[in-house]
Amino acid sequence: MSEKLIPEHIDPFRFAEQQLHLIGIVNISDMKRLEAALQSSDSVVAVDLKFGVDEQSITFLKGHLKTKLTLQCQRCLEPFVYEIISNFALGIVNTLDEAKALPELYEPALAKEGKLALRELIEDEVILNLPIIPKHGADECEVNISLSEAEEKQEKRDNPFKVLESLKDKRK
Ligand SMILES: [Zn+2]
Repeated sequence: MSEKLIPEHIDPFRFAEQQLHLIGIVNISDMKRLEAALQSSDSVVAVDLKFGVDEQSITFLKGHLKTKLTLQCQRCLEPFVYEIISNFALGIVNTLDEAKALPELYEPALAKEGKLALRELIEDEVILNLPIIPKHGADECEVNISLSEAEEKQEKRDNPFKVLESLKDKRK
């Protein structure tokens, strides 16, 4: 397949002015934080990204991503395939104050010196969509017990990606 790799860094403001539409992939092997959470790293994330400026002069990135990841089931410890399909709308800002002023419909994406780390941002979106406790559906799993609620809470606290969610909440 000759699918186009999404560039690592871009100028989001120029892309938005030109209303660019990018369709391509990011290799999981280029997403080190995500890769560490997976059983295998031979898959890709397919993305469809539209840049633009809305009627409030907000530079936005509206995206769609799709991937199938191999995770390890926390009940039977066997691999299982987890599909993620996600839509996101990001408001591109230069400062935290601008991030706070964004309307609710946008998650903030901070540009550094006019550049956006595009692959990293897609990696963040995938990580946010990972299950807190990866496990097979009850009818597919080798082990037929469910984790207690206490264990689930514990996992939630220990989730290393939680910091990402709190970053996203900063503007509230
Ligand atoms: Zn299982």
